[in-house]
Amino acid sequence: MTKICKRCLLKDLSYEQYEAIILNGLEALPKEDLTDGSESQRRLEVCKECERLNQGTCLACGCFVEIRAALKKGRCPYNKW
Ligand code: SF4
Repeated sequence: MTKICKRCLLKDLSYEQYEAIILNGLEALPKEDLTDGSESQRRLEVCKECERLNQGTCLACGCFVEIRAALKKGRCPYNKW
């Protein structure tokens, strides 16, 4: 049975997709554009409590939150972080 969890991050749903989309996406970005891990994690904890998180994407903007949260210039469209 397929696991469906709207409030999960992609890494919680499918490691293969997480690796293909998130890890490879982050690897392609300049390191100077990325936050440190603790700031990214703080942001993602907020996303995990948000009603707009849907299987790793933000329903407000359509982004993969794990990429947006890792970017220094990343912003929540609802100013939650
Ligand atoms: S980026 Fe903002 S609106 Fe989108 S899921 Fe995260 S907290 Fe919610």
